[in-house]
Amino acid sequence: MLTFRTIKSLTESLRGYRAAGLRVGFVPTMGFLHAGHRALIVESVARCDITVVSIFVNPTQFGPNEDLDRYPRALEQDHALCRNAGVSLIFVPDAGEIYPPGFQTTIEPGPVAEPLCGAIRPGHFRGVATVVTKLFHIVQPEVAFFGQKDFQQCTVIRQLVRDLNLPVEIVTVPTVREPDGLALSSRNSYLSPVDRQRARCLSQGLLAAQAAYGQGERDSGRLIAIARAQMTEVDQLQYLELRDARTLEAAHGIVEQPAALCVAASVGATRLIDNVLLIPPPTALSDHELELVSHALDRQATASANEPRPS
Ligand code: AMP
Repeated sequence: MLTFRTIKSLTESLRGYRAAGLRVGFVPTMGFLHAGHRALIVESVARCDITVVSIFVNPTQFGPNEDLDRYPRALEQDHALCRNAGVSLIFVPDAGEIYPPGFQTTIEPGPVAEPLCGAIRPGHFRGVATVVTKLFHIVQPEVAFFGQKDFQQCTVIRQLVRDLNLPVEIVTVPTVREPDGLALSSRNSYLSPVDRQRARCLSQGLLAAQAAYGQGERDSGRLIAIARAQMTEVDQLQYLELRDARTLEAAHGIVEQPAALCVAASVGATRLIDNVLLIPPPTALSDHELELVSHALDRQATASANEPRPS
């Protein structure tokens, strides 16, 4: 496994791999890696010939009163996790490498970046879209991997890739959770033992709503109420909203399309986000089986139409 700190050295090395026809997978991160990041890396290693992980705490996606300065860092442990998971190259630039003096161009995402975290963290998704676009141009991966944990981020990036014709496939990897349901996050390290216990209620609420949906509940108000009823331990519920899973438009009334139930809350001084997807169960029959059944029904209908009728 090789580590690069400059764009020049990384791109020179990548040129060699690309010339050899190897498929490049990319996992952008802010470091302090855990099993959630590992799941993205494992997926990339399985699908690609080489996997590049970037570790960069991107200053432009943090607001002025956010946790940029105290964001946790553990480079040596990150290296060990990457090595064990089969990463080929790590890119660890400093802020001046990504934003040199005179830098002034940014990417402004559209309406998908407005609700939820976009409303609470103004400019956050501009920072995300800008750094991800830069990293895509630097690494030029065939595939890039993002976690469902940051569901709105996945939606913003898919839209960015579509709108700007970026030649990269986006893969979303399901959220990895602690045994008690809490979604893994680098920010969980901020939680005191008491806050850690209190934080469980977020996933408990989301999973309760998902279970109700699985049992047929489709009323958006009731689904949100089921989740909210569990989320009594947090200090501030910033949002708990049901959104269309593709467009992030608000899902009111009866939920017919795939939806995402998204939450952000503060527990002590820690801001946590999580979400679950509410997706109709696949029909019991596969497409092929459905086709066979419909052919059989057609044949039956034709046969009975041709049967002599009692006069
Ligand atoms: P971060 O280092 O927090 O910027 O996260 C880097 C990537 O890891 C993002 O695509 C996140 O969505 C993803 N990620 C973070 N936590 C999890 C988790 N618990 N499960 C799956 N992916 C995650």
